Amino acid sequence: MHIPMRMCIACRQMKPQAELIRIVRELNTGKIMPDENKKLMGRGAYICRDKDCIKKAEKKNGLARHFKCNVPIEIYKAAEEMV
Ligand SMILES: [Zn+2]
Repeated sequence: MHIPMRMCIACRQMKPQAELIRIVRELNTGKIMPDENKKLMGRGAYICRDKDCIKKAEKKNGLARHFKCNVPIEIYKAAEEMV
């Protein structure tokens, strides 16, 4: 069976998609938001379900770099709550 692998933007490890948190820039609104059910359309970024990786991404502005736009700090907080 094929398991889709994605890269964590913090530690750069490839992991099965199911093990990662997806953050999406929603296609219609352009809003950046956590995508709990991995169903939203748009460009996605993945982070491990791991507080250290989320903290690391926050420190490095990983999401802002990935999406090439400002990402509010609340997104990282929301991601932490999904761990
Ligand atoms: Zn990671």
